[in-house]
Amino acid sequence: MLLTSLASTVMVGAVAYSRLMRKFDDLVLQDASRSFRLDVSAYIRTYGSWEQAQAQENFGSFSRRRREMLNMPPPGPISGPEADRPHPKPGNSPTATMDVPVPPRPDMQNQDMHGQGMHGPGMQPQPPSHLRRPPFRFYLFDTQGRALMNIPPYHPGQPMRAEEREKVLPVEVDGRTVAYFSPQGQINYSDMDFGYLSAMREALTYGVAAAALLTLVLGWVFGNRLSGALRRLTSAVEAVSDGELKQHVVVKSRDEVGVLAAAFNRMSDEIVRSHTDLRESHDQIRRQAEQLKELSIRDALTKLHNRRYFDEQARQLLEMAVRYDHPFSVMIGDIDFFKKINDKFSHAMGDAVLKQVAEILRGSIRASDIVARYGGEEFVIAFPETPLQQAAAVCEALRVKIEEYPWHELNPDLKVTMSMGLNADIHLGSVDAMLTSADGLLYYAKNAGRNRVCTKLEATV
Ligand code: GH3
Ligand code: MG
Ligand code: MG
Repeated sequence: MLLTSLASTVMVGAVAYSRLMRKFDDLVLQDASRSFRLDVSAYIRTYGSWEQAQAQENFGSFSRRRREMLNMPPPGPISGPEADRPHPKPGNSPTATMDVPVPPRPDMQNQDMHGQGMHGPGMQPQPPSHLRRPPFRFYLFDTQGRALMNIPPYHPGQPMRAEEREKVLPVEVDGRTVAYFSPQGQINYSDMDFGYLSAMREALTYGVAAAALLTLVLGWVFGNRLSGALRRLTSAVEAVSDGELKQHVVVKSRDEVGVLAAAFNRMSDEIVRSHTDLRESHDQIRRQAEQLKELSIRDALTKLHNRRYFDEQARQLLEMAVRYDHPFSVMIGDIDFFKKINDKFSHAMGDAVLKQVAEILRGSIRASDIVARYGGEEFVIAFPETPLQQAAAVCEALRVKIEEYPWHELNPDLKVTMSMGLNADIHLGSVDAMLTSADGLLYYAKNAGRNRVCTKLEATV
């Protein structure tokens, strides 16, 4: 940005310099043309015609004399080998006098005709070579368009070329056009011109230097401010991408960077808000999923695990037991005459009994044991690392607990007992097979009078 500003400043300076030079050249050309026109006009007016004038005095000497009288700067040298001397006169043509060969006068050599002063050797010091330009020239034609002076590419009498016709200007004497002239070539500056130019160039150089300095200082100040703000913005964006969503960038300016920072701050707030909402809803979904999962593995009435959960867990426990040849027992129990409880006391009483029996079972087993409601009034327990006799003792304790629970508090006539079958043969191949075997013993217990625990070893404990 700084470089672009500097380049722009230098370019503006270069354009201004070029425009200045062109304007200055125009002014010098106008002035030279005016002086030349007045010289020619006075020359012809004085002697009556160009030919008569040429016969009396050459044009260069007349111009110098006239300008001395008017206290004007003398004309410069005529460009071209023979421009300053008259030529032989071929007839009555106005150009005739230009054909008369007149040897060049030493004092007239190296003077230009543009009226800007004399710069030839021995007259005034030449300008520095890098500022010197080819002398300015004027072609002069008579009213019929033939050259009056020997200025290349024209020889006296040679007709005016088409390109000159566009540019020629009239020389008038008493309102009558007596000749035409056309400025050619480039301008040779006077000392005063060089002075002006040098002063203008100096002013322009100082101006451009001051503008460049100002550009540098302002560019450095604003660039620093801008890059500081951009740095803060960049690190804030990086922090957001690293997970630190809450960001606030302080930019006091009201420019585009300020607007960008404000938008970024709003965006950061919005991201934080959305992130919080998202986390909350994620937590909620997770909680609901856990609840759903819990519901899917729990019995709604007793809050014990259900059959699906038991089957899965017991299967894994059996696998472990088989792999490491550890003891593992399963029990299936069934409330005795439960249908009668429903019938005699109500279905609600039946539910209350189910819940209380579940509570007794849950509270009496180890954390590693798994108890579940297997169906209606049937319950199952898996005892990992437990041989049959030990499991039978636990079940017997459970049976007693159920029997001795103060059911009369629910209803004075209420009595609740449970029959159980046990199996510990881990080589039956599946939990299902073990439960089927245990169910056979349960059936046996029912038939044997209920309210008892049956194992393979002994039918009644
Ligand atoms: P047994 O001693 O031979 O097991 O006789 P029982 O009456 O307990 O057995 P039966 O299979 O004839 O009756 C079981 C009853 O349990 C039938 C059913 O209505 C009842 N029952 C099953 N689930 C529920 C329940 O969730 N709540 C209630 N209140 N009753 C249930
Ligand atoms: Mg039953
Ligand atoms: Mg029953």
